[in-house]
Amino acid sequence: MSGTVCLTFDFDSFAGALPGGSPGDLARAEFAAAGVPRILNLLEHRAILSTWFIPGHTVQTYPALCRDIVRAGHEVALHGYAHENNSRLTAREERQVTRHAFEVVADLLGEAPKGARTPSWDLSAATLDILTELGLDYDSSLMAHDYRPYFVRQGDHHRVEGPSALGNPSPLVELPISWSLDDWPAFETNGRGRPLQNARLVFENWRDDVVYMLRDFQDGVVTFTSHPEVTGRGHRLLGYERLVDELRQMGVAFARMDSVVQAFLAGQSYGEYRPEHGSFRERPPGGAGM
Ligand SMILES: [Zn+2]
Repeated sequence: MSGTVCLTFDFDSFAGALPGGSPGDLARAEFAAAGVPRILNLLEHRAILSTWFIPGHTVQTYPALCRDIVRAGHEVALHGYAHENNSRLTAREERQVTRHAFEVVADLLGEAPKGARTPSWDLSAATLDILTELGLDYDSSLMAHDYRPYFVRQGDHHRVEGPSALGNPSPLVELPISWSLDDWPAFETNGRGRPLQNARLVFENWRDDVVYMLRDFQDGVVTFTSHPEVTGRGHRLLGYERLVDELRQMGVAFARMDSVVQAFLAGQSYGEYRPEHGSFRERPPGGAGM
């Protein structure tokens, strides 16, 4: 079966070490700028377009580098202004920060950005409203599926005394992510999980998620998340190159997130579970007695 991979890059740079980063933290963050041209060249050589989530602070600190990203045809989407943990902001602060980030990125692009990934990889009670007020089409911060875009729900009610009641779909499309398909927990020493893993093994995991998708899902789409300060190191870049080349040989398509979302909104179906063997299928919540 066919499938799509969205290569995404979170160009956090200094914003990822603020506020209060030590000189060492800031220097680690600064390495992102060394990684960006390496990644751009890797993608250019293979004619692959990708999506970059860039804090407004990084756009203003590295305007020339960010223009390179745009000129190469990649998408730029929101990632806070100074990589704020939106889950710890008041609704008013989050709205202010997100609007500021929106203006900075829109200025870079010469048009409105289409999507956002929250720095916390989480939504606050206010995030959904803020993103839809700004006219964004999609978010990429949640993990409820791996191979299928879905509409973010509003008004879920979860309690311990009884079953969860799910709310209604909002207009915002979710392109889901996963910690297991993010370079940070696998490689960084202050991330979640066990760091400094062997790049070959980590990218073998990523590849196998695609192998499984191609085998059992119709037109699945999966997201990889990388940071230039992490994947921009030599041994990881070589691993990443091998991964991308293997996936190309397997016939997957690479796409910017905004183009996947556009197709999804136009009715394209992604990620239907169709295993070769087995009679079980995915089921929504509820359906007692069925
Ligand atoms: Zn980030």
